[in-house]
Amino acid sequence: MKLRFWGVRGSIPCPGPTTLRHGGNTPCYEVKTRAGECVILDAGTGIRGLGADLMKRGPPPPIHLLISHTHWDHIQGFPFFIPCYIPGASIRITGPMQLNSNQTIEKAFQLQMSYEFFPISRQQLAAQIRYESFGETRFKLGSLDAQTHLVNHPVLSLGYRLTEDGRSLVYTGDHEPYQNLFKAKPGEAAGDEDDSLFGNADTAVATADKRFIEFIRNAHVLLIDCTYTPEEYPSQRRGWGHSSWDHCLRWMREGGVERMVLTHHDPMRTDDLLDAQLARARQAAREQGISSDRILAAAEGQEIDV
Ligand SMILES: [Zn+2]
Ligand SMILES: [Zn+2]
Repeated sequence: MKLRFWGVRGSIPCPGPTTLRHGGNTPCYEVKTRAGECVILDAGTGIRGLGADLMKRGPPPPIHLLISHTHWDHIQGFPFFIPCYIPGASIRITGPMQLNSNQTIEKAFQLQMSYEFFPISRQQLAAQIRYESFGETRFKLGSLDAQTHLVNHPVLSLGYRLTEDGRSLVYTGDHEPYQNLFKAKPGEAAGDEDDSLFGNADTAVATADKRFIEFIRNAHVLLIDCTYTPEEYPSQRRGWGHSSWDHCLRWMREGGVERMVLTHHDPMRTDDLLDAQLARARQAAREQGISSDRILAAAEGQEIDV
C-alpha cells in the first residue's frame, strides 16, 4: 500500500511563500492499495487537488472516504471534490456518529452544503454517495482490513488502522494525550480534593492510553497529529485536542511503531520552523535509541510505501 499526502496542515489552509515546502492545504491523504482501491483519509482542502488528479487518471474508481471527524479542516474540501459531480461515480463516506446528538456523518455533510454556506446544493451532486456513521468497529474495504478507534479530541473522532498483506497504516486524525483535566497542572499545588474526587479518573486515563497504544501496536506507518511543540502544548493549548512531538515519540516507542509521520502542522509553523522542530524530534529520538530516519514530517506531494 502507498500513502500520498495531499494536505498536511491543521486548522486552516495557509498557502504562501513560507509554507511552500510542506504545503498549506488542510488534511487529506490518499491510500493506494495493491488491489487498486481508492481510499481517502479526510476531506480537507487537499482533496480538491486529489479529485482533479483522479479525473486525469481516467473514470474515477469506487472511492472510500474515511472521515476522522467533522471539524472544518477535515471536511471543508469535499464540495470541491470533482468526482462528486460525475454521474456514475461512487463514493462511500464513513465517519463518527456523534453520540450526544445522534448526529450522523451525513447530517454534518448536509449542513456544510446548506444554502447559507455553499451555493451548490447537495441534490446537485451527480455521483452516487453513501454515508455510514459508526464508532469503534472493524470492516473490510476491498483488500484492506479496517479498524477504527475513538481518539481524544473535543468532538467524537476516529483513528483508522488499515492493513493489507500484513502491513499496517494507522492514521490518528486529531488526537491529544488522555489526561485527568481536573488534576493540578505540573508546578501547581494540588488541592486536597484532587485525589479523593478524581482518583478514578487517573485509572480511566491509564486505561485509555493503554488502549491507544494497542491500537497503534507494531504499525508500519503511524500518521499522527503533531500540531504543537513541547513548549507550546503545556502553555495554553492543553485540552485543544492536539499533540506535540514528545507525546508522539513516546507512543511510537511504546507501540513499537516502525515509522512515524508527523502531520496536522500548525498553520503558524513556517517551513523553516517545521524543519527545526523535526530536527529536535529526531535528536530526541536518537537519544532514546530510535534511528532518526524513522521520523518524517509530512509534506504535500510526498508519497511513501507503507
Ligand atoms: Zn484538525
Ligand atoms: Zn479537530
